[in-house]
Formats: sequence, structure tokens, C-alpha cells
Amino acid sequence: IKVDPIKLEDEETMVIRCLINIEDVTEKVKLEKIRSEFVVNVTHELKTPLTSINGFVETLKNNDSIDKDTRDRFLGIIEEESNRLRRLIDDILMLSFIENNKGKIDKDIDIIDTFKDVYDVTYKLAEKKKQSYSYYFNNNKVLIKANKDHIKQLFLNLIDNAIKYTPEYGKIYVEIIDRQDSVFINVKDNGIGIPKEDIPRIFERFYRVDKARSKKIGGTGLGLAIVKHIVISLGGTISVNSTLNQGTEFSVKLPK
Ligand code: ADP
Repeated sequence: IKVDPIKLEDEETMVIRCLINIEDVTEKVKLEKIRSEFVVNVTHELKTPLTSINGFVETLKNNDSIDKDTRDRFLGIIEEESNRLRRLIDDILMLSFIENNKGKIDKDIDIIDTFKDVYDVTYKLAEKKKQSYSYYFNNNKVLIKANKDHIKQLFLNLIDNAIKYTPEYGKIYVEIIDRQDSVFINVKDNGIGIPKEDIPRIFERFYRVDKARSKKIGGTGLGLAIVKHIVISLGGTISVNSTLNQGTEFSVKLPK
């Protein structure tokens, strides 16, 4: 609480009054803390691949005698880490656009149509892992007021996670249920699941369950933070139900 006392002298009665301006700054302080932590995290996340790229470039530059196989392996790592940098930058920009409501041209879009666009891309990823990937809608057209790119991103992040965190031959299932005032989007998998103690934190930026395992799988730790912000910007809610080694279901409710 910020208190700004201003002394006022009343000439007639000589009473000294105090004007106290009480402003609730707890929210501001909290936001400022989140922002500065974010900058520290972003810097760290960007530095890690950069350090690795620099290291391998230096090694290649200073060693003429490196055999072809080793050279190719190092170049492969440099390529991988550059891709990771690009993904990180794309996700950070996306998050900032959504937070600042930029590019927010909300018009009537068809959720089913948008999902089908994403299905065509994600189907190939599931196919590579020989996963079964099915969907169900109770209506062939479901209109909501939203930015199509944001809805695409929402589907993409949830489905991409379902595929990533489900082993080969697993099952991915997407359900879109149209109700009178809302639309429900459920993305379900029978993959590795999320430990109970991690569930409250998975929507935080850069939070990843079991860093070592997640690093192998790829990803930036920003996917669910982006989803959460899209859902909030549309006045909706998101919940998760997960059992370790059995599977996970994300449920999104968006007002129509
Ligand atoms: P990432 O880029 O690491 O996938 P996200 O923000 O999308 O970042 O997800 C945060 C963490 O939540 C992931 O690292 C993963 O551990 C966990 N997670 C998200 N979706 C699933 C899922 N469908 N099954 C199991 N774990 C998941």
C-alpha cells in the first residue's frame, strides 16, 4: 500500500488535516516481478543454444584435422540449436502479441474448419509415431468470435504436446462439443502423463516437467503459457486432468 500524506492547514480552525492517497500496488508489484523474472528466463533460454552454437563453431574453426563424421555431427548440433533459437523467438513474440492484444481482429470463425487445418499438419506427426489420431464433433460448424491464428495456435500447441508426450502406437483424441453458450475443446492422449505435483505449474512460462527428458523431446516450455493466454483473452477457461503413465486430457471452454 502506497500512502501519500499531504498536509493541509485550515486557516480558520487551525486543524491540520491529512489527505491520504491509498493505492493498491500489490498487483503492480506482482506484475513487475513476473516481468523481470521473464526477462531473466528469456535471456537464459536464448543464451543456452547460443553458447552451444558458439562452442561448436569455435571448435570447427580451430581444428582443421576434424574428420568428416565428427564435422557433420557438430554441424547437425549447430543446425538443431539454431532451430531451437528460432522456435524460442517465435514463441516469445507470439506470447507478447497475445498479451498486448496485437493482431486481434476478432470476427466470426468456424472452430471446426480451423481444427481441420491443424489436423492436416498434425496428422503427419502422429503418423510418424504410428499413433491413432481421431476426432469427434457434435456439429459441423461452430462459430465463435476470435482471431483464427490464435485458435490455430491453441489447437496446434495442445495437439503437438499430446503427440510429443505419447509413445509410439498411442492414441490421440480431439473432441469439439458445441453447446448453447459455449464450445468445449478436449484434447486427450494416453501418453506419459504429468506428475501431480507439476500440474499447477505447467502453464508457467518455461516450466517443463523433468527438464532432461523434455529437452530430448524438444519444445520451448512456452506452449501452454501461450494456450493459457489465448484462452484468457477470449474469456474462457482451461483445465487439465492427468494420470502418470496413463494419459492426459486438456479441456478448454470458450464462450460463443
Ligand atoms: P513444452 O515446449 O516443454 O512442450 P509446454 O508449455 O507446451 O512446453 O508444456 C509444459 C510441460 O507440460 C511440458 O514440458 C510437459 O512436461 C508437460 N506436458 C504438456 N502437455 C503434456 C501432455 N499431453 N502429456 C504429458 N505432459 C505434458
